[in-house]
Amino acid sequence: MTPPVDQSLLKIQVNDMDSTRALIKAYPHAAVLIGLRGIVVAFNTAASVHFSYLREDQPLSFAIRDPELLDAVALTLLDGETRRFEVSERLPVERAFAVHVAQAIPMGVLVVFDDLSVGRKLERMRVDFVANASHELRTPLASLLGFVETLQGSAKDDSEARARFLFIMEVQAKRMARLIDDLLSLSRIELNVHIRPSAAIELSSVVRQITDALKPLAQDRAVEIMLDLPDSPAVVAGDRDELLRVFENLIENAIKYGASGGKVLVEVANRGAHDITTTVRDFGAGIAAEHLPRLTERFYRVDQAASREAGGTGLGLAIVKHIALRHGGRLDIESTLGVGSSFRIFFPRLESNV
Ligand code: ADP
Repeated sequence: MTPPVDQSLLKIQVNDMDSTRALIKAYPHAAVLIGLRGIVVAFNTAASVHFSYLREDQPLSFAIRDPELLDAVALTLLDGETRRFEVSERLPVERAFAVHVAQAIPMGVLVVFDDLSVGRKLERMRVDFVANASHELRTPLASLLGFVETLQGSAKDDSEARARFLFIMEVQAKRMARLIDDLLSLSRIELNVHIRPSAAIELSSVVRQITDALKPLAQDRAVEIMLDLPDSPAVVAGDRDELLRVFENLIENAIKYGASGGKVLVEVANRGAHDITTTVRDFGAGIAAEHLPRLTERFYRVDQAASREAGGTGLGLAIVKHIALRHGGRLDIESTLGVGSSFRIFFPRLESNV
């Protein structure tokens, strides 16, 4: 890959050292100007962030040890040729740069570093995501195929077994459908994350609609849902379907994972003129502190088996977080083992309503 180096910068011939320094400091990528015998003449803040030992009037080798880079600088000082290559370091942190070494002023070379680490990290996340999604789909698919085979073979004439297997197949197929639905909504929300929704949505009515819909599940798990809603309307600029999704995911999780507490408290509160908070609190087993920062990652689960058994896709909280972001809100999770968990979202209140 060619680092994005401004060629005009490399051709400028400047005698005035102050203008040269100013030019280097204004450059957005890490850049170091090196003079005769490899002495650092000037560098910018981006360079000092990556190489903290850089000092003017000292050899470049005091700050950067990479032999390929030091050789390239020495050679370009001699022959004036431009050189491009990649360097990567594992310690103290893994990082990689595309390096561009070129003659910049008479007897001086400019080294420009293009940080490749962010792109590589994104690439790794993408690969992990595809691997995770495929793995999640493969398990129910393998089970479906297994039952199809059994129904074609040994269970062909066994009507009792057939009914039982078809039921399991339906459960697995629904699981796959749920996973695909979640993946599609997540990508749709991510695509629109910077476009703020604009309809005026009253959150108490959203919460009421969802708690009504989740009553059968709550009764099934012997969980009582308690509502604490404000007297005045709590209106946000929002997308009703997405907000329904947020409370569906949070309240369903509270019922599924916090059932042992016997109750779930859902609160909507107007906080002053500008903010609304919503809290879904359960009194179940709680979540250990080490899991909290990772809960909103795709496919992250505290207990794989419990999530699968509960029909979870591992995407619910990632969806909640992204919808909150799209609404200008923020999700805050608190939990104490043995006490319960609280999922709070801070929303900006729709001004026209105040
Ligand atoms: P899932 O589809 O697995 O429910 P989520 O993204 O909604 O996926 O949640 C991720 C994980 O966070 C769950 O698998 C569960 O381990 C944990 N979790 C979510 N909500 C709660 C809660 N209220 N109490 C305890 N654990 C929870």
